[in-house]
Amino acid sequence: MIPPVIIITGASRGIGRSIALFAAETGYSVALNYANNKTAAEEAAHLCEQRKQNSQQQFRPIRANLADAEQYENLFQQTLQHFGRIDSLVNNAGIAPRVRADITETKQDSFNEVISVNLTASFFLTQLVVNHWLQNKTDNDTGNRNIIFISSISAESASLNRAEYCISKAGLSMAVKLWALRCAAHGIRVFELRPGIMATDMTSGVKEKYDKLLEEGLVPQKRWGTPDDVGLAVQAILKGHFPFTTGEAIRIDGGLHIHHF
Ligand code: NAP
Repeated sequence: MIPPVIIITGASRGIGRSIALFAAETGYSVALNYANNKTAAEEAAHLCEQRKQNSQQQFRPIRANLADAEQYENLFQQTLQHFGRIDSLVNNAGIAPRVRADITETKQDSFNEVISVNLTASFFLTQLVVNHWLQNKTDNDTGNRNIIFISSISAESASLNRAEYCISKAGLSMAVKLWALRCAAHGIRVFELRPGIMATDMTSGVKEKYDKLLEEGLVPQKRWGTPDDVGLAVQAILKGHFPFTTGEAIRIDGGLHIHHF
């Protein structure tokens, strides 16, 4: 049997890498997108090899800067050319603002950059994949097609020093609902996974600050989230364990979102 194929953006490091490993363990071939870090992407592909379930699975790093429409279109085309099919997409790649500035000081360049990678690319890559599915109703349809958006607690919690990030993630939440609605009758499920405070390169610069906040009880489960916390959730979706769910946001935040006294 030809393995199902998944595109994962930002799969070289952090959360995206863990998602790739769990997809490999679930029997998927993986298109591992990355921006610049070829060595990390190749290492992620190599680690996927060690988790694969059958000899036909393949793991292909594909470089594409998602800030550039031509490059994410190329990611889509290259995946189809190489694997001949696409079964699922995870819009994971995301960036924080280069400089955390109060909302009164947010620069338009920073706003545009964050929105283009986090929101615009996720929206239009999804459009490419969904249109491909709708226009090519073939034997390839396994009845298990999923689009997963990795948003953030920042979709619902306001941080005044990274407005562009919060707005990009809140936008993703609506994109999930819109795509879920459009795709529901076609057997395509759409999910939002909303991580909280996760230990990755993205948060390495603010580690001490969050260590202290965690100690003070900011997160009810009293620990950092890990990439595998998200990888496991994606695996459950890929295994088809949410057959009657779509347009849903699943929080992976140790209870951070719960308002409490
Ligand atoms: P990370 O460790 O910084 O890794 C970022 C990944 O995205 C890398 O694979 C990177 O590729 C890729 N990437 C960055 N810019 C890109 C671009 N322009 N085009 C293509 N790929 C690009 O990030 P992470 O913490 O795993 O975050 C993954 C997702 O989870 C993001 O959407 C983030 O917003 C979200 N999230 C993270 C946290 C957290 O606390 N870490 C919390 C909530 C949500 P290279 O290796 O080539 O640079």
